[in-house]
Amino acid sequence: MLRWCCYCQQFLGESPDYQNLSITHGICPACRTKVFEFTEADLKRSESIRDMQHQLHEAGRRNDLGAAQRIIENAVASNIRPVDVLIGVIAPMLYQVGEDWKRGAMSVAEEHGFTAYCSEISIGSLPT
Ligand SMILES: [Zn+2]
Repeated sequence: MLRWCCYCQQFLGESPDYQNLSITHGICPACRTKVFEFTEADLKRSESIRDMQHQLHEAGRRNDLGAAQRIIENAVASNIRPVDVLIGVIAPMLYQVGEDWKRGAMSVAEEHGFTAYCSEISIGSLPT
C-alpha cells in the first residue's frame, strides 16, 4: 500500500501488502508535531490535489495529454512535489482504472487507452 500523509498531502513510502497500490493515510513525523495547527490553507492544498486528480482523470478519459501536462505543471508550480503527483495522484488513478476494468465498469480498450495516456505523462518532463 502507498502511505500518504493526510495533513501535508505528501507521499510517505510504502507498506505491506506491496501488491496493493491503494492509498493508506497516516501522519508524517513533521505533521505529528503540529497536528492541531492546521489552517484553512492546509485544507485548500488537500482540496487542490483532489481537484487535480479529478482533472487528470477527465483529461485521461479524453486522452488529452496537453491538458495533463498543463495540470501537472501547475501542480508542481504550486509546490506539489513530482513524487507526490506520481505516487499520490497518478498511481491511484491507474489502480482505480484496473479495478474499474475488473468489475466491468471500463472496457479493455478504455483501460488500455487510459494506461497509455498515463505512460505518456512523463514524470521526466516535469520541472524538478
Ligand atoms: Zn505530513
